[in-house]
Amino acid sequence: MNVEVVKRKPVVTDYATHYAEIGWPVLTVAGITADLKCTCGNDNCKAAGKHPMLADWPNKSSMDLEVIRNYFANHGDLNVGICTGQRSRLVVLDVDARSGGLETLEECLQLYGDLPLTPMVHTGGGGNHYYFKCPLGGLPSRISLLPGIDLKCEGGYVVAPPSRHLSGKEYVWDTFQDIESIPMAPLPDWLQHLIVRSAQIQTDSKVDWQKFIDTRVQEGGRNSNLAKLTGHLLRRWVDPYVCLKIVYAWNCLWCDPPLDFQEVLGIVNSISRIQLTQLTQGAGNA
Ligand SMILES: [Zn+2]
Repeated sequence: MNVEVVKRKPVVTDYATHYAEIGWPVLTVAGITADLKCTCGNDNCKAAGKHPMLADWPNKSSMDLEVIRNYFANHGDLNVGICTGQRSRLVVLDVDARSGGLETLEECLQLYGDLPLTPMVHTGGGGNHYYFKCPLGGLPSRISLLPGIDLKCEGGYVVAPPSRHLSGKEYVWDTFQDIESIPMAPLPDWLQHLIVRSAQIQTDSKVDWQKFIDTRVQEGGRNSNLAKLTGHLLRRWVDPYVCLKIVYAWNCLWCDPPLDFQEVLGIVNSISRIQLTQLTQGAGNA
């Protein structure tokens, strides 16, 4: 008797369990219906086919195959998401075509050189997801790291193949850059530097600088406030020598009592990591 082996097309559960098997926690994400609406039922959904189904998804995402099968059972139209960050040792560069991400990436590649070969997904919306190894210690996720470019890491997730995009097309692994064919590359240094710098600026923007600059500082708070002001100026590319003079002048006006010049020089030196000593000989009297 001839037994015909019928190979069925893999469905979302097959992909989801495969991701779990290679160590990536997965979550259920709203899908897209045949008439291109979000399966959440809200006709005006602003994140159609992209939002998690469970509010507590960070704790509910799973690598347990039974749990995953249950999640997707009887829900053939759901999309699948993969957690990024240290849990999956993944960081994903999300290039969105509609927001100019392809052009931004092109400019970056001209500046920094080509991206290393690494698994890549075509999203169905014209954009791409590049999968990289997460650096030790993880990285914060950042929406709009650059125009049209997000970086998904700690606390984030990506919608993955074979999910359906609002365009009606499926997310697919690139034919030559799929997870079976090539290993994941480490995140390029320039991207790592960009994200660290953007995290510093975000911390910076939480300080009310207009209030800060008009507030008297007593003993005990002088070093930390002078360091804060120094960091703020250096991150905005103020020349370190000019920064030293500004911080010293502010110290004389607002610190009770002011630190002497050598102490301020020590603070600025330690933060700028440039030895300003030679530049400043005699400047203490200025
Ligand atoms: Zn929705």
